[in-house]
Amino acid sequence: MSTSSDEYLKLLSRVEDVLAKGELKERITIPELRAFRIGMRTVIRNLGEIAKTLNRDPKHLALFFAKSLATSFAMREGALILKGVFQRSQLNGILQRYVESYVRCPVCKRLDTHIVKEEGFYFLLCDVCGAKSSVRKL
Ligand SMILES: [Zn+2]
Repeated sequence: MSTSSDEYLKLLSRVEDVLAKGELKERITIPELRAFRIGMRTVIRNLGEIAKTLNRDPKHLALFFAKSLATSFAMREGALILKGVFQRSQLNGILQRYVESYVRCPVCKRLDTHIVKEEGFYFLLCDVCGAKSSVRKL
């Protein structure tokens, strides 16, 4: 008798976990990219905030921008400073590509994921459905 109620409680807590994660998912909305130009440089003011929301290392995201635009970069107080003048639409497109390549679970399409390194390879692990998929090294 106690066994079955234990089982029931275990099942209940698993359901609660799933529900909690579902709620968490709803809160992940990518902040709007705030970019402006200073002379021949383009600044993404809230890069740190975007990386934090996506649960990624800001340096990883910064490097993705720099590589996509074939330019050099610096980071200052959560802002990304790119050498060169770039359009906001171009930057948004790169952010979208980053999300599709390094954040979104290819199985359940949620954004609650993290990246792990195993034996020199990088994998995207989904916190919602548990899927594991390989990702390219930057
Ligand atoms: Zn998933």
